[in-house]
Amino acid sequence: MPGPSQRCFRFAPSPNGFLHLGHAYSALLNFRLARECGGRFLLRIEDIDTGRARPEFEAAIHEDLAWLGLAWETPVRRQSEHFDDYARALARLDDMGLLYACDCKRSDIAHFAAAHDGWPRDPDGAPLYSGTCRDKPRRPAGEVLRQGGVALRLDMEKAVALAGQGLTWQEFNLGAVAADPAQWGDVVLARKDTPASYHIAVVVDDAIQGVTDVVRGRDLFNATSLHRLLQRLLELPEPGYRHHDLVLDEDGEKLSKSRASTTLRALRADGVSASDVRRRLGSFS
Ligand code: GLU
Repeated sequence: MPGPSQRCFRFAPSPNGFLHLGHAYSALLNFRLARECGGRFLLRIEDIDTGRARPEFEAAIHEDLAWLGLAWETPVRRQSEHFDDYARALARLDDMGLLYACDCKRSDIAHFAAAHDGWPRDPDGAPLYSGTCRDKPRRPAGEVLRQGGVALRLDMEKAVALAGQGLTWQEFNLGAVAADPAQWGDVVLARKDTPASYHIAVVVDDAIQGVTDVVRGRDLFNATSLHRLLQRLLELPEPGYRHHDLVLDEDGEKLSKSRASTTLRALRADGVSASDVRRRLGSFS
């Protein structure tokens, strides 16, 4: 049984491709930090995107991490088995009057943005939602989820007002960082094709699993503003955050799942050993 003051780390890949060196770095770093403080290390399978998640990729995650020499607690949480938990969190936000149904297409939003010079974009470069569905008559979130095919969005202005001032997070080496969730606009918290979104699932799971330390790539730094907003609204505990540098390829480009050459299995097939990978990634030998 975990002790009450034991720290808890997690590696949370999505099984829609093979793990590459960037994933290996993140997993090894989480594992090492957990070991150094006598903490827990969890593996979580982020497979809410049931259209893209594939069993062979999930099996490969287990196999590749074991090959790297990592061990994790069981049972492993698979997000696709916990849609009820996300629905409960969404119902709570809905009770606060913070959600609305949206059936706009991505292309409608893109056209709207293109027609409005200087329309703001979120930190990932996508145009902010135009707000077309915000003032339509509200429908209970549960009904929208049951119906499917319609998204649920967060009314960001209301959410920020309700959360109040002084929303921050503690970032390793930086200290308190001011959260700015409004930069994401009215984000989708339940997708048209699956009854949750990454953002709601990640905060609910980190809380349910008692994660105290979220260690993940720098590409998710800005998403933390949104995660802190949801944690405050849902009265969930606040983990500490550490966003590490991304592993880049020889051309200085971010590694992506499409670059087959850096997947752990391709390296292994080329005769690279787990210790070679650990050495190449830094202080993990
Ligand atoms: N599932 C996410 C990914 O594979 C990581 C989520 C997180 O660490 O918060 O990029």
